[in-house]
Amino acid sequence: MGKDLERVLVTEEEIHARLAELAQEIWDHYAGEEFLLVGVLKGAVLVMADLMRALPGSAPMDWMAVSSYGSGTKSSGVVRILKDLDTDITGRHVVIVEDIIDSGLTLSWIRANLESRGPKSVEICTLLRKPEAAKVQIDCRWVGFDIPNEFVVGYGLDFDEQYRNLRVVGTLAPHVYS
Ligand code: IMP
Ligand code: MG
Repeated sequence: MGKDLERVLVTEEEIHARLAELAQEIWDHYAGEEFLLVGVLKGAVLVMADLMRALPGSAPMDWMAVSSYGSGTKSSGVVRILKDLDTDITGRHVVIVEDIIDSGLTLSWIRANLESRGPKSVEICTLLRKPEAAKVQIDCRWVGFDIPNEFVVGYGLDFDEQYRNLRVVGTLAPHVYS
């Protein structure tokens, strides 16, 4: 699997160190009030696993799965829920946990959808953010790393459902695409 990588952008050590910082910041932000971690399947599985284990105390989690319809590779912001939350979030603090924000369209839709359910608050924590996302007004409170506008895999991120189990985040070598 390693030979398919062209360049490592974020190492396993960097990911774990940053997630530990973010976990502490999230914990401090809610100051003893309960918050629900909401992961977006499937990419956020590994971020969720390491982020929640780095929390100083206990927090519940739930999951959503969505598909975004777009023309080609760009997401359109038109989203369909494939798996909804199991829990009612009315009156609760929610932290959306994501792997990466690219255009931000999918996440904007998810956030608006969750906000319509009457939660106490909705915040976003993402491991990675691309420059395009920094342009759209998506208010993301916790960001692990800003990365260049390149296609990356690993640590939950896939190319055609492969490479999610890589321990690092990196770009793929050209031979993989051909
Ligand atoms: P967007 O923010 O609506 O453009 O879409 C974000 C989603 O696209 C993410 O949750 C990923 O599933 C996927 N995605 C965006 N950039 C990448 C990448 O570089 N590698 C793998 N998946 C990506
Ligand atoms: Mg995703």
